[in-house]
Amino acid sequence: MALPAVLRAQLAALVGERWIKDDPVSLFTYRSDGLTLHEAEPAAIVFPGTTAELSAAVKILAGAGIPFLPRGAGTGLSGGAVPAPGAVLLEMARFREISDVDAVSRTVMVGPGVVNDQLSRHVRSLGLHFVPDPSSQKACTIGGNVGENSGGPHTLKYGVTVNHILGLEVVLPDGEVVELGGRTWDTPGPDLTGLFVGSEGTFGIATRICCRLSPLPEKAITLLAVFDSAEDACRGVSGIIARGIVPAALELMDRVVIGAVEQAYHLGFPPRAGAVLIAEIEGLTEGLDEEAAQVEDILRAQRARETRRARSDEERLLIWKARKQAFGAIGRLAPSYYTQDGVIPRSRLPEVLAKIYAIARRYELTVGNVFHAGDGNLHPLLLYDPRRAEQVQAVLAAGHEILEACLAVGGALSGEHGIGLEKSSMMGSLFNGEDLEAMKRVRAVFNPTEILNPGKIFPSPGKCADAPFIRAKSGIVA
Ligand SMILES: Cc1cc2nc3c(=O)[nH]c(=O)nc-3n(C[C@H](O)[C@H](O)[C@H](O)COP(=O)(O)OP(=O)(O)OC[C@H]3O[C@@H](n4cnc5c(N)ncnc54)[C@H](O)[C@@H]3O)c2cc1C
Repeated sequence: MALPAVLRAQLAALVGERWIKDDPVSLFTYRSDGLTLHEAEPAAIVFPGTTAELSAAVKILAGAGIPFLPRGAGTGLSGGAVPAPGAVLLEMARFREISDVDAVSRTVMVGPGVVNDQLSRHVRSLGLHFVPDPSSQKACTIGGNVGENSGGPHTLKYGVTVNHILGLEVVLPDGEVVELGGRTWDTPGPDLTGLFVGSEGTFGIATRICCRLSPLPEKAITLLAVFDSAEDACRGVSGIIARGIVPAALELMDRVVIGAVEQAYHLGFPPRAGAVLIAEIEGLTEGLDEEAAQVEDILRAQRARETRRARSDEERLLIWKARKQAFGAIGRLAPSYYTQDGVIPRSRLPEVLAKIYAIARRYELTVGNVFHAGDGNLHPLLLYDPRRAEQVQAVLAAGHEILEACLAVGGALSGEHGIGLEKSSMMGSLFNGEDLEAMKRVRAVFNPTEILNPGKIFPSPGKCADAPFIRAKSGIVA
């Protein structure tokens, strides 16, 4: 659905012709985010360069009743940045400024288009970093992290994005510019910053973000424990936490993922291992070796076949490279994969993991698991070939059953990737009608007409017209 010519001309006059894209290649490129099972072409992609431009663009679009939504790097895995029919994408890539680095207060102001990894590299020489470190950190933006309240391997000990954001400048869906929070730990009144973080681009568009910086640890020890089964590795995770030790990260990779990673990085993982657990302990140098030895003892008691410590920083970084690029390595095994994201109480990991393997077997699918085990945050990767319609249906149905298995043990629909378009139809399984209405009323305070990023998070009964922009139709998503 093309933009009306008058409106297009107004937007082009505002941002400059080169910052508006509506040629077929651009529209095709921006039709999905990291979840390629859901796609729809936007009416246009607009790249505002300043808050004033963004606010003016929003006023033009809202005035014409054209829906719009912000987009960061488009690495989201729940379809949050997939446009509703006729919507305009507001691409935040030009908001790249990093300023006001304050090493004493440990704060920094960033534009939402700043790439996550770039921020930590920017402040590293000061002995600081931005803690949330999604595995996609070399591509995803701080704006997207705010949108999804992203986590990462090291958020086990230090908390997710919301714990590292102090304040926001936001453009509301009517174009008004407001400030939430501030530059200090606490501001009077309700925590509107906390409310905004994780609102998946449905409350407003963040244009400046005050991030909390944290000191780099004095020392970090990275351990690899090798297990015969992923279930045993999960018991190791519970064993560590039950002893009152909270490592910085506890990440699990199963046999399928180890195979892919080994092909890609040749780390020397035992080829027949059922799973490896990566445990990172960090903090003051004093006492850290003893804590690492304690973790090794616990893991051996939980049937770890072998434990190894990274002997150098290079080895440590290689382990993390393997973990963070494991998703990419899976590309060696299948043309595509569907990443699920559910969260469950840690103690139920072995049983739910066994169910995931059983579900995949029943649908004749290969599943690999690589996940933030310490958080109970599962990421089954269901391998498939998008050219085979029956496999597309199978991964969708299997993904649905996996989420039901998470809910059945008291878990939730997403640990970190958000609800977006993908899981909105399942929200009714987790919340009753009153809960959903209450949440919608909160959204209405920010976004009363739903013109900003419509069709996300909440099920829209009676709005089956939304369904055509979901390519892979099934009883689940339509
Ligand atoms: C290989 C891979 C690994 C991943 N690993 C992790 C992981 O470890 N942990 C994790 O949490 N996620 C992970 N993700 C998911 C994804 O990277 C994160 O959700 C990330 O934060 C999205 O950032 P983005 O810039 O790509 O945002 P996008 O995908 O562009 O947008 C995500 C959402 O945020 C909204 N948004 C974007 N910019 C703004 C803004 N300025 N203001 C308000 N809302 C905005 C969008 O509308 C959308 O709803 C992974 C994804 C991939 C592909």
